[in-house]
Formats: sequence, structure tokens, C-alpha cells
Amino acid sequence: MPRARNPTARPPGSARANGAPWPVTRERIRTLAHNLWWSWNPAARRLFESMDPTLWRANSHNPIATLNNLSSSRAQTLSSDPDFLSALAAAEHALEAYLASKTWFSSRKRQLTAYFCMEFGIHESLPLYAGGLGILAGDHIKSASDLGVPLVGVGILWKFGYYRQELTKLGETRVVYPAPDFSQLPIESTGKFISLPVGRQTVRCRIWRLTVGRVPVFLLDSDLPTNSPTARALTHHLYRGGDPDYRIRQEILLGIGGMHALDALGLSPTVYHLNEGHAAFAPLERLRRLVAGGKRFGHALNEVRRRSVFTTHTPVPEGNDRFDPALVMKYLGRMPNQMRLNASEFLAFGREDQTDQKESFCMTVLALRLSARSNGVSRLHAETSRRMWKRVFAAARAEEVPIGSVTNGVHPESWIADEARPFYDLYFKPRWNGADPEDDWWKGVGRVPKEELWTLRQTLRKRMISWLRQRSADEATAFNFEEKYAARLLAEVCATLDENALTIGFARRFATYKRAPLIFTDPKRLARLVRNTDRPVQFVFAGKAHPQDRGGQEFVRTLHEFSLTPEFRGRVLLIQNYDMHVGRMLTSGCDVWLNNPVRPMEASGTSGMKSPLNLGINCSILDGWWPEAFNRKNGWVIGGKQFADRKRQDRYDADALYATLEDQVIPLFYRRDRRGVPGAWCRMMAESMRSVCAEFSSHRMVADYARRFYAGAK
Ligand SMILES: *Cc1c(COP(=O)(O)O)cnc(C)c1O
Repeated sequence: MPRARNPTARPPGSARANGAPWPVTRERIRTLAHNLWWSWNPAARRLFESMDPTLWRANSHNPIATLNNLSSSRAQTLSSDPDFLSALAAAEHALEAYLASKTWFSSRKRQLTAYFCMEFGIHESLPLYAGGLGILAGDHIKSASDLGVPLVGVGILWKFGYYRQELTKLGETRVVYPAPDFSQLPIESTGKFISLPVGRQTVRCRIWRLTVGRVPVFLLDSDLPTNSPTARALTHHLYRGGDPDYRIRQEILLGIGGMHALDALGLSPTVYHLNEGHAAFAPLERLRRLVAGGKRFGHALNEVRRRSVFTTHTPVPEGNDRFDPALVMKYLGRMPNQMRLNASEFLAFGREDQTDQKESFCMTVLALRLSARSNGVSRLHAETSRRMWKRVFAAARAEEVPIGSVTNGVHPESWIADEARPFYDLYFKPRWNGADPEDDWWKGVGRVPKEELWTLRQTLRKRMISWLRQRSADEATAFNFEEKYAARLLAEVCATLDENALTIGFARRFATYKRAPLIFTDPKRLARLVRNTDRPVQFVFAGKAHPQDRGGQEFVRTLHEFSLTPEFRGRVLLIQNYDMHVGRMLTSGCDVWLNNPVRPMEASGTSGMKSPLNLGINCSILDGWWPEAFNRKNGWVIGGKQFADRKRQDRYDADALYATLEDQVIPLFYRRDRRGVPGAWCRMMAESMRSVCAEFSSHRMVADYARRFYAGAK
């Protein structure tokens, strides 16, 4: 077993633990693991990894699972290993210092915001997320912690979470839900419960607490033996799809259950932030309470609206839940009466046209009507949303619709590769602890010698490729026969990857509007690019489609097939089971980050913001966040024309994508000086980093919310 790495700092007191019995050390490790601060602290992660690197990898970097599975001889070694013990003390010390440090927000008004979200993507070992929405929520929580913005998260503890993607040898998606083990998760019971009427049933939930730096996230769990099987199942599956009855009850749990949970915990937030329409029953419940408590309806509505912030996340119709009015009445039938409304007045809150008795009940519409402040997640998306929701506000022109924008961002420390840290320390000297949203460590990148930029880029690409090989080897030994077959193929493909080739990445959920296989529109043209021996190009893909999305799963299959043909084998790679770790590896390892959605369906997109933190460059359709960032020197734009006909659009965009790669991207990457350094490429990497990282950080995003929305509410 490898030994713990030598820590550089040995704070006073580190000797104190020397010779302590293992249970004492084990408890200290467990305590440290219960604050997810470690997930963005490299030294703490290294400490956990050093317990047993193989177990660490096999358990999705879960420190508690690693700890629980340590062999007793390894535990004995660790409990008397002075390097390990002093690294442990250093990490404890760093967490204490973090929690005690002064923050940007500490001198401001201490009003509490409750942040509701269906999913939270905080770390790969905590499978409570499906995709971009969850990752964004996780990054929001982490930045709120770093900046000291008073906030609590409200969500659901998913027993099975989102599915694990296993591909058959034909590339068909197998939806697998691994057996959960809550004892391996860094959650604590609050000892509090709620009882929530859902239709005729009463659902009891336990409230768990997850600690993320300074911010608690409270999670509801209905899987209790005293509940009926249907009630227990409510917190089993995130986005199972195809069952509106299940879905509406989950949303009642999040929104109304979330309100009960805040009461049970004795918290009374000033602001309620609905991250996506899933939680829109929360303000409805607040309205019910105020009216039932005797407040005049108009006053109550104003009060609810004044303290609600709503962020809409997608123009894709399936992303905006709509329920049959009968279903709404089935579960919330008692509410209208308590609010002194008749059924159609009540249902009108979820209808674009309030007089249309047939219209379905839309959660986005409900959220818009109950929030004084609504926003989209990029300027373009806000514009799209204003057009889309005109009828809700009976506005003649889109400009009159009160939907603003706060562009998304990513949490830098969560997405910078560990191998890039020495570079950051040397050139930027970031002091993350106590950082301001305006701190811009990246602006000095223009002064970094291009050889150094290139060295880091090469390092990160090579490290990704060796990780891909390791991963495929792990899978080849771990899986059953059919998967083993697929894994062997993958191992073979990985062996032929070229460490020096231009590497283009594409990883995101395989929603069809994202068009993962667009680059295969003309396979012959693509084959000429990847087979060029002087200037080789290779692609790495990853992504899951929604369990009910046949179209998206078909995309996965198409990519799988192409990746095994003689033309593309070894040049096109599809990785199974996209998660935060895969995301981190690919966004940091790839030279170019490809994004080719159907404009304007990509509300923001955040994976493209992770890549510049690691000297990657974006090549994207002008959609989502990219129009705000693109400055002609920091990446590429694909195409630009829009057509009403989807087939024509696909052909045009594919053609534009090939042309961009052939004429711009590939020549620039392979234009080398005498020492093999691509000078112009390095300039573009530097400009990508300089122009993107600070502006599209979640610190800037959370500060925007805090200044404009959280602080203004009374
Ligand atoms: C960043 C990230 C996303 C979001 O990617 P988009 O570009 O917004 O589609 C989704 N899933 C994971 C695991 C991520 O890390």
C-alpha cells in the first residue's frame, strides 16, 4: 500500500494524536468526512485517498465507505503513521480556519434564504443529482458557504438517486439502481420528523442534515417502515419519468414538505429561492397559511411574492412540469377551500390563460405568479423565457415580461484539477478562503510564459488519458460477462488513444436537443479528420439519457456503434456512467470543449465554464452562456444562422462544425514553433481562462443573487 504523502505543513498539536488508539483516529476521520468542505479541499481529499487509494477509487471517492472497508492491518498502520496523523491534524485545522474566517457577506444583513431544489450535486459519492440543475445547486451551496451568505438548502434524500448507466455490448442503455447504503453517506439525522398529508395519505418523513462548509442542506426521506409502500417509494427515484401521479407527490413533498421541515427545525427564512419550478408548491403553502391565518388574500399574495425568488432553467417543454387539473385536485383538493378560492380560481395560478378551464396546471407558471423576482440563467435564456411566458403576464410585448437574468457560474475550487494546483499556486497565488466575488485570480494569466501554459495543458491531457485507461481496466475486472466484453473493448480503445493528439470532449446529459451525435452527420468527413496521421484528432464522449428518453438512448447507441467501427476505433471514445468525477476529468483533460445544442434550447450550460479553469477552449453554438463570453479571441462559434426546419438546421450546423474544426481549430493546434509549442493556441487558452473564469464563477453568481434578490426582500 502506498504511504500517505508528506504533508508540507505540520500545525502545532499534530503530535498529540501520535499513538492514539485506532477508534479515536477513526472518529476524527469520520467527523472530518461529515463536512463536505473536504470535497473542494485537495489536501483533505488526498488525506482520505491515502487511507487506501484502491478502496477510494472503488467507492466513488467516498471517505466513509473507504474508512469502513479498511483492512485492520491498514488501520493499524495508519493509526501509528506520523505523516498520516499530521495530515489529518492539518486538515482538521484547515476546516476550523475555514469556518472561523471572515467572509464577504459577514458584515451584511443576516437574513436567511431557504434554497429549494429537487437535486443537489455536491460530490460524486453522494448520488443526489441527475445533471446540470443539481450541479448548479451544489455549486450555489458551496459558494454561499465560501461567501458567508446565510442560506439553507432544502431537498430530498434520494434512496436510489438517479440511475447508473450500464451499456450492453450493443450500446443499449441498462438502467441500474445500485443498492443504497445510507450508513456510508455523510448525513446526520436531525432527530426531527414531519407528517405531511398527501391526498388521503399521511406521509411521515425524517429530516436529515448534510453539512456543506457553513451551509446545512436539509433532506427529506419518506422511506420509513411506518409509511405505506407507496409513501415509502416517494423518495426512491429522482426523475423516474412517465408517472405524473408519482411526480406530483414528489413535488408536494419538496415544496409543502420542505415548508413543514423548516418549521420543524425552527427556521423562518426571509427569502425562499425556488431553483426550478419543482418546488413551486412551497409559496402556495405559504399563501394558504397566511390566508387561513386571517390575512386578506391580496395582502397575503403580495407578501408571498415579495419573499420568493424563482429561477427557471429550461425552455424545453418537458422540463416545465404540467399536471392534469384533476390530478392537482386529487392531491391538493383541500387547499382552495382553506384559501377561500373556488377550484378554478385556485387552478388559475398554474395556468397561462387563467380563464381556460381546460388548460393544464404548470409548475413554472405557478412559480412565476408567486414570485416577485424571476430570472433565467443567461441573458439569452431570459430573453427566450420572456417570449415564452408572455401570456402569464398578459404582456403585449416580450420586453414587458418581468423575467430578469442571473447567468450561471461554476465553483472554481470544485472544478480545478489537482494537477493544476501547483500552477495556480505559482502564478495566481489564490487565497480562496475569505474570497470576494470580485477576486479575479485569473487576470494575470497573460503574463505566464506560453511554454508553461503548454506544459500544464499536456499534463492534464495525459493524466486524463491514463485515468481513462485505469478506469477501463477497473471495469474489465469488476463486471459480469457482457459488461466485461464491453469493458475489454473499451480497454483496447483506450490503449490506442494518443497522448499528444488534439482531444475534443463532449459530456452532458443526452437530451436530444443537445445533439450528441451531430459530429457524425457526415462520417466520411469526420473520418478524414480523425485518421489524419500528421494532425490527429480524437473525441471523448460521456452522457446519460433520461430513463424514459428513447431518443436520447438512441443517441448513446449511435455513438457506441461509431466508436467501435474501424474508422473511429481508438479515435472516438464513449465513457459509461457520466458523473461529477467523469465531468471533472473530461472538462480538465480535453483541449477543446464541444457544445452543439439547438439554439436557443440550452438555457445556460455550465460544463463549458469548467474547461477554461483548466486551460480548455470552448467551441460552441452561440447559445446559453456563450454569447456573453465569446469575444473572438477566447474560442470558436459554430455557425450562426437559424432555420425553422430542424433537419436543415442540423445539416447547416454540422457543416459549420466541420468547417470550424478543419479551418480553425485543428490548424491552430498544430501550428508549432521550433520547440513544439503552439504559440497562437497558447494565447487563446490564456484568453479563454482570463475572460471566463472569474465572470462565470458561482461566487459571482451567488453574489448577484445575494445583492439583487436576497438582500432586497423584507
Ligand atoms: C457540469 C455538469 C453538467 C452540466 O453540463 P451542461 O454543460 O450544463 O450540460 C451535468 N452533469 C455533470 C456531471 C456535470 O459535471
